[in-house]
This record gives sequence, structure tokens and C-alpha cells, in this order.
Amino acid sequence: MKAIRKFTVRAVLPGPLAALEELAGNLRWSWHEPTRQLFERIAPELWREIGADPVALLGAVDPRRLDELAQDHDYVAQVESTRDGLRDYLDRPRWYQGLEGEKPAAIAYFSPEFGIAAALPQYSGGLGILAGDHLKSASDLGLPLVGVGLFYRAGYFSQAISPDGWQMESYPLLDPDGLPLAVLRRADGSAVQVSLALPDDRTLHARVWQAKVGRVRLLLLDADIPENADDLRLVTDRLYGGGGEHRLLQELLLGIGGARAVKLWSSLHGLPEPDVFHTNEGHAGFLGLERISSLIGEGLNFQEALQVARAGTVFTTHTPVAAGIDRFERSLVRRYFGTDLLPGVDVEDLLALGAESYSGGSSEVFNMAVMGLRLGQHANGVSTLHGEVSRRMFNGLWPGFDSADVPITSITNGVHAQSWTDPALKSLANAKLGTSDTSTANWASPDVSDQDLWSVRGQMRLQFVEDARRRLHNAWRDQNPGGIPPAWMGRVFDPNVLTIGFARRVPTYKRLTLMLHDPERLRALLLHPEHPIQIVIAGKSHPADEEGKRLIQKIVQFAADPALRTRIAFLPDYNIAMAQLMYPGTDVWLNNPLRPLEACGTSGMKAALNGALNLSILDGWWPEYYDGKNGWAIPSADSAGDSAERDRLEAEALYDLIEHQVAPTFYERNGDDVPERWVSNIRHTLSTLSPALSADRMVSEYVQRLYRPAGHYEALMSANNYRAARELAAWKGRIVSAWPQVAVTHVESGGVSSVPEVGDELHLRAHVQLGGLVAEDVTVEVVYGKSVGTDELRDVVNQALEPVLVKEAPAGGATLFTGTVELDRAGTFGYTVRVVPKNDLLISPAEMGLVAVAG
Ligand SMILES: *Cc1c(COP(=O)(O)O)cnc(C)c1O
Repeated sequence: MKAIRKFTVRAVLPGPLAALEELAGNLRWSWHEPTRQLFERIAPELWREIGADPVALLGAVDPRRLDELAQDHDYVAQVESTRDGLRDYLDRPRWYQGLEGEKPAAIAYFSPEFGIAAALPQYSGGLGILAGDHLKSASDLGLPLVGVGLFYRAGYFSQAISPDGWQMESYPLLDPDGLPLAVLRRADGSAVQVSLALPDDRTLHARVWQAKVGRVRLLLLDADIPENADDLRLVTDRLYGGGGEHRLLQELLLGIGGARAVKLWSSLHGLPEPDVFHTNEGHAGFLGLERISSLIGEGLNFQEALQVARAGTVFTTHTPVAAGIDRFERSLVRRYFGTDLLPGVDVEDLLALGAESYSGGSSEVFNMAVMGLRLGQHANGVSTLHGEVSRRMFNGLWPGFDSADVPITSITNGVHAQSWTDPALKSLANAKLGTSDTSTANWASPDVSDQDLWSVRGQMRLQFVEDARRRLHNAWRDQNPGGIPPAWMGRVFDPNVLTIGFARRVPTYKRLTLMLHDPERLRALLLHPEHPIQIVIAGKSHPADEEGKRLIQKIVQFAADPALRTRIAFLPDYNIAMAQLMYPGTDVWLNNPLRPLEACGTSGMKAALNGALNLSILDGWWPEYYDGKNGWAIPSADSAGDSAERDRLEAEALYDLIEHQVAPTFYERNGDDVPERWVSNIRHTLSTLSPALSADRMVSEYVQRLYRPAGHYEALMSANNYRAARELAAWKGRIVSAWPQVAVTHVESGGVSSVPEVGDELHLRAHVQLGGLVAEDVTVEVVYGKSVGTDELRDVVNQALEPVLVKEAPAGGATLFTGTVELDRAGTFGYTVRVVPKNDLLISPAEMGLVAVAG
């Protein structure tokens, strides 16, 4: 495929329509229905053909049509009032402005990908869509947040499927001038650049694109500029393209270049620099080192600077799958940082941050997630289950602690309701419930009848079926230029048949082909005489993942069977535009990952927001929200002998659920042909899940549970010329060197009757060797709970013991700590006594990974 360089000539709008340019220039149009409709009205066919893209539409439309609309007073008035509405949205105080108390002045949100709209394809999958939704909700809620990412010249790849079912990738180049982006410039008009020193006296330069996402700015760094050597222009060629060094260069640019770009951007706009940095997955982790380097420039040493950087950094881990975590050769990292890249930072200090210094770790690699956790005092997973899994997975960084003590919390993902709810459902809410905010509408109200809900669901299914046929036709024409598509393609899917959707990236753990486990059984479900189902499948396999491509091929080959091809189809090139029609158009959203490898999963959330019911393994977000009425849980055969056995058991459970529960309920109709039970489940799903799954809930949780604490600790560290950071660094140094001598030498207990019973008191006296530390440096605590197995406690309570102050601590002797535990529960009681460092600037007793436990 030739790499055609294109450029876009922007239209000159007639005077009365000038406001359209302002509307097209802010991506808020991507979730604001009235603005979308204004653009659609210009040229409905073109709007559909180009795919909802105002900038492209204005460039492509016949200027005579614009002149005509400029004469249409009604249209002009609407354009102007919509523009006024946008300005009002941008200026008016919102949720964040009303928050009482201390809060961050600015938050920088880093991600390697952002999926905001089909018109700005800078994403590959879930992480990108999530980042896009985070920015949109941050805008709606009024957060002072700025997004930071890279601008990829080809984005992720476009997918086509060969006649024998093999995935083919192409990388159409994007022209940034044809996108809703503007170069970041100084007041004198010169373009801002950031530069990174590389080995061999080379330099990587990047310009900075800005996108307006409502009130939020997104900065995208772009290395494809003439100032760079040819090979360096390719650093931002594509998303997750190369491995090793190419990936490292991208991450250096994202983290270090991104932090520099935010600083420049803030100062150009007279805005405060961010006090909170949120890094998503390890990819942007180098941003913490850039901050450390600049603090060293202010006179701090490495450890002091680290305290400041940690305090203000939030690290979110997004996957428990090892392949999702970046690891570089240490020698490569050493080569890149043994330069002037980060003035003042010793490469050995840096390497220590990414070292897998735990059992099972490799001494050859530099692990970006590990560095992320060491550079971020505040860390989280993305669902309750993923939080637990992450605490276990990273337990090695906090040796001696139980996984429950590992300081990684969780905030369950959410999705941006305005972006992911079909306009038909919004207008139903508008007409019957008086609000177009479907996530807060009262769907339980009788003002919306069963018939209303069912008919909107039918409309959305039909719209999807038509889109699927169009896509199949287009894909066929691309491969057979000039030919006439076969007639059966016009009959793919039936707008009245129970429709099951399955679309996501194709890593092995998502088990794209589980449904093919017993082909005859699947065939019978598809062709059932009374209760037929149909299945739509989509998803991209990473270009380097041959196994993923084989899975796609299996599906495509199965679906080629003439008896089945109108009931099951693989749609090529899964993307936002397809997803926006697919989620509302499916009745059931299927997800069958290998538990617990799905960190959260958001496609099922988007489906639920449109009234689809989920049929899923209890993984990711589903165990938190499945309630027996909003869908079905496929039982996981966790204890199966091997993976083949597990697949077999789970596939059979899936078939059974579809055959005996899902399909019969869908086809059980009343006299008006409405499936009452099904509709009642839809209503229940809309009214309970919509608010819970919305990105507004997620972003407000980030504010309250992570951004505010991060801002608080960063302010504490920075006050009075970083006094607390200097003190904390010195204190930590003292604790770390004394710790090998700290020990609980002896614990005496008493007070409990010979046959212990509820109400008894357990008196504890712990003799603790402080190794030169003082009692205030530590917490000596009893950790007790219900004892299960050999070394596990449940329902754990931590209770501090008090030092018994004697006039003079015996030289070299132990200090006595005492306390009393009341036995208030029957059952097997277990306890242990331990010593942990104590400092108000630590957010968790486990934070330093130091503990001394009674022997
Ligand atoms: C939501 C979405 C995803 C992520 O789906 P998961 O269920 O998290 O795998 C991927 N791609 C697109 C286009 C999406 O809209």
C-alpha cells in the first residue's frame, strides 16, 4: 500500500455560518446531539458517508449548499444559539467549582491512546476509549484537567478480512490539518516544541497539537516534523507499532516530553501547573522522572524530589495480563538515560525504580508498571475484582504484607453516557421523562410504557442490521471492485431475531472462539425453529498476534456456511462508529473472558446503557453489578482440571443459558407481541445500571478518592520550599537503615479464661527492639481476626499497642508496648503482633514495604 501524503483545504464559511467553525473545532459535538444534528442537516448523505466528522464535512460539502443555508434564517439562528450554548457550557461553573475544601488546581491525565470520536482515530481499544470518556466527563464535571498523549500519523491499523478469513492491516495516514486539532503556539505565532536529548548527541523534537474536548484540552505530541532526522520522524508513526527501542522512544516522548509540554502549555495560558499527575498503565511513567529532574534543578536531592513526585502522582493499572505490561532491557534504558536527557538524575537511581526486585522477577528488565507503583503514592485497579487481583499480583513489592494490605485500591470504570447512548433512547427520555440525560432519567416511571421501550429497542436493532449489511457490502466491494455483491448479503441478520453481540480486541484471554466449542450446538441455536438467535462479531487482533488472527479466521470460516451466513457474521474494522450502532442494536452483550483476566471491560457497560442485557463470565465489572435481573452470569469453571476442560464446561454453560433462559424469555410475548419479562429487565437495567456505570460516577470517585488526596499530599510536600519532603526523605533514610535491627523479641499474653469465651479480654505485652529508632517512629500493632487455614486471617482488625513509657529506655534493650483486645466474636481467633513505620505523610502502613512480625 502506498503511503499517500494528503492535506486538507479547509472551507471558507459564509459569514452567517461562521459559528459552525467554532462548533466543529470543539469535540463536544461528538457527544452533543443538537450540534451533531446541525452538521448532519448540511448534507445527511455525506455525513453518513464520511462518518460523523464536521471538519471533513465542511471541507467536502458543495459550497453552494453552504450559501443556501446561509440564507436560511431558521438554520442560521439555530447555529448561533447552539454556539451560544457551547460558550455557556464552557464558562459556567460546574460540579467541580462547587466542591468545598481543598482541591487540585490542575490535573494532568496521561495515556498512550485517546478514543474520543471516530473522527480522531488515536486509540486501539478499551484503554483509549476509557481515556476519551474520562476527558469528556471531566469536562462535563468542570475538572481543571488536561490530557496528554501522542499524535500517531496512522493511528491504529484498519482491518480488512481476506476471502480465506485472514486479517489484513493497513495504515492510512492521517492529515492533522483535516482533524479538529491546532498547533500549540506562542503569542508571537511560533510553534512550541519540546526536545529530548538522545544517545550519540542526537535530539528528538516534537510539536504539540491541541484538541478541545469540551472544557478540557488534549495535548498530543507529534515527532513527524522536519527538525527531526528521518528515523526519528517515525517515532510517532503508529500506535503500539514496534517493540523494544521504538516503544521506548514513544514512552520517553509521552512521559518526559508530555510533562514538558504541559508545563509550557500552562505557562502560555497563565494557568497553574498541574499539582496532580494521573498516569494510566506504565506507558507514561517516565513523567515522574522528568518531575524529579526538574525538582533536582530546584535544589532537592533524588530522594527528596521522589517524595514530592510520588505525593502528587496517581497510577492506574489496567491489566493483569503480563503481555500488557511494558518491560524493557535494562541495558537499553541505561543507554538512553546515560545522557543529558534528565539533568541531575543518576541512572542507577532510575534503574532501581523499575527493578523487579522480588522473587520471580528478572534482573535483566526494567518494568514500567513497577516503576509506576514506586513513583505513584496513589494507585488503583479498575474494578473491585481487579483491585484484589492487582494487590496479589504486585504483592512482591510489599514483601511481608498480606495482599489485603497492599496499597492499591480500585475505582470501577465507567462510560460517558452522552457519547454511548443512542439518540433514539435519548429522544424517548426527552419525550416521556423530560430529560435527555439517560443516565439519570427515571426509567421506572410508568410514563414510559413497555411498548415504548420495546419499540425503541426494535428501532435500534433495525438500524444496526442495516448498518451491518452496509458494512458487509462495502467490505465486499473493496475486495471485488466493480462487482455486484451477492444477494444473500442483503439478508444478513433479521431485525426481529434475538441479537447477540461480541466485539472487542482479540487477545487469547477474551476467548473469541469459545462459542465455537461445539459447532453443532451453536448451529442448532442459530437455526432454532421457534427461538433463533443471531450473532454479530467484531474485533481486531494485534498485528503481531498470529494466534489472534487464527481465531478470527475460525469465526469467519464458520460464518461462511451458506446455511448460517445470514445468522452469524464477522464485521471487519471494529471502531467507535461501528460500536455506537452495535451496542444499542444488540439485545444481549456477550463476554466470556478467562476469569480474572478482564480488568474491567466497558463494552458491556455501553450495551447496558442502551438497554441490552449482559451475558457474561463473572469477571471485570460484572461481579459487582450482576443482580439476577440485568442479565446472566456464565459460571466460571475455575477449578477445572485443565484449560480445555474449563473451556468445555464454560461453553456448555453458555449454550445452556442461551437455550433455556435467554432465548425463551426473549420470545415469550404478550398479546401485543411485547416480551413483558424481557422488557421489565430492560427497564430495570436502564434505571439501576445507567447511573452506576456512568463515567461521571467514575470521575467523581477519582476526584474524591485519589485526586484530592494526591493534591493534598503534594501541597504538604511542597510547602515552605519542600520542607516536609526533605524531612520525609531523611526520615525514610533513617528508617530503612535501622529496619534490619527492628524486631518483636517477645510477646506475652494473658487475661483469657482457660476456655475462652466472648467478652474475655486478651492482654498483650510486646517487647520490641527499636534498633535506634524511637517509639514515635513506629506503630506496634496487634492484627487479629478470624483464623482460616494455616496463615490467613479474615475480617481483620488492626489495633495499635501503646508504648509503656519509662524514664529512660534501657540502652540496647527492648521497649514494651501493651494493649487489650476484647474477644467480641465467637469462632477461631487468630492474631499476630507486628511493627510498621509510622508517619503522617504515609498513606498506608504498608507503603514503605517494611514490617517486622513477631516470630
Ligand atoms: C468500548 C470499546 C472497546 C473496549 O471494550 P472492552 O469490553 O473493554 O474490551 C474497544 N473498542 C471500542 C471501539 C469500544 O467502543
